[in-house]
Amino acid sequence: MLQPENMDVVVRWRSREYRVEGARTLGELKRRVGELTGVDAKRQKLMGLPPKAVKGAADDSPLASLGLKPEHRLTMMGSPDSEHEELALAAETAKAAQAALIDDLDDVIDGVEVGIEHNPVYLAKIAARVSSYKPRMLAGARPGKKCLVLDVDYTLFDHRSPAESARELGRPYLHEFLAAAYAHYDLVVWSATSMSWIVLKMSELGLMDHPSFKLAMLFDAGAMIGVESAQYGLLNVKPLGVLWALFPDIYREANTIMLDDLGRNFLMNPRSGLKIRPCRGMTIAANRAADVELVGLSEYLELIRDDDDLSALDHRSWERTVRKRRAMGCSDGRIGGLGGAEAEGDAADDSGGRGDGSEGVGKAP
Ligand SMILES: [Mg+2]
Repeated sequence: MLQPENMDVVVRWRSREYRVEGARTLGELKRRVGELTGVDAKRQKLMGLPPKAVKGAADDSPLASLGLKPEHRLTMMGSPDSEHEELALAAETAKAAQAALIDDLDDVIDGVEVGIEHNPVYLAKIAARVSSYKPRMLAGARPGKKCLVLDVDYTLFDHRSPAESARELGRPYLHEFLAAAYAHYDLVVWSATSMSWIVLKMSELGLMDHPSFKLAMLFDAGAMIGVESAQYGLLNVKPLGVLWALFPDIYREANTIMLDDLGRNFLMNPRSGLKIRPCRGMTIAANRAADVELVGLSEYLELIRDDDDLSALDHRSWERTVRKRRAMGCSDGRIGGLGGAEAEGDAADDSGGRGDGSEGVGKAP
C-alpha cells in the first residue's frame, strides 16, 4: 500500500502564518494546526483546500490524495477555545437579554388599536435604550450622508449553510455593494445577536478593514425592544428611533433606510424598512449566480440618494421605482452602480452569468 506522503503546509490565520511540517493526513494537519493556534479541529474552517478535500474527506485521507501540493497555502478561520467560551457566554447573555426584553412586556397594548410605532409604551422603551445603549463605534457618522442600516444574517451572509470559507457565505456582490453605497450612505450594521458575534462575522467577511468603505457603527440585540404585534405575537424588533435619538443632528427618518430579510424587524419604523430577499444556500453555485439582489439594490440606493425624504418612498416596490426612474432618464448614467465598482479579486466566483447590474432588476419578485 502506498504510504501517505509527508507534506509541508503553510496556514495563514489572523494575519500570521504557521508552518506545519511533515503532515500526512487531513486529520493530522488539523490537529497540528490546532496545536499551533488553539483552534480546535472541529472549529477550523480551512480555505484554499482542493475541492476533493472540501466535501466529506475523511480525516485519515492522505493530503496528497486530496490534491494538496507541497508548500500548499491555506487560510484558516475559527476562534480558539478560550475565545469560543467567551463568545458562547456572550451569545448566552444576548439570549438572556432578549428573553428579558420579552418578559418585561407587562404593559402590552390594552386592546387599543394604535399603530405599534406610535404606542407610548414602546416609545418609552426606546427612550430607555437611548439612555443606556452604546453602539460599537467604528468610523462613526459623517454629517451630510444618508444612513443605510443593514441586517446581517440572510441579508449580507448565509449563516446556516456549512462552508469552508466566509467568502462562500457572503452574499454575491457584498463588497461592491457596500463600496458603492458608502459614497452616499453611512453603513450601520444591526444584527440581533451579541456584539462579539457581529464583530467576528464582520471581520471574517472582510468588512472591518476594507480599502473602499468603512462601517460607521455596529448595533446588537441590546438596542432592540420587545413589542407585541397581532400578526407575530411577542417579538423583538430593531427600532430605528434608538439610532435617530443617539445621533439627532445626523440621522432621522427622512435620511435612513434599513435592509432586513425580516419585515417584522421594522415594525417600529415601517416607512424606513426594505425587506430584502433572504440569501440562502449560498454554497450552491446556481443560487449564487441567481442572487443579484445587491446589484438591484445598489442601483436603487443610487437613484434615491438625493431624495429629501426616503420615508416618502414605498420601499416595497423598490424594483418598480428603479424601472420608473430609469425610464424617466433620471439616473444620469448611474445605472448599474456596481458595473464600475472595484471588483474584488475574490469575487470572481460570483460573476458567472450575471452580466451587468441591470439584469437583476427586471426580475419578477
Ligand atoms: Mg436576517
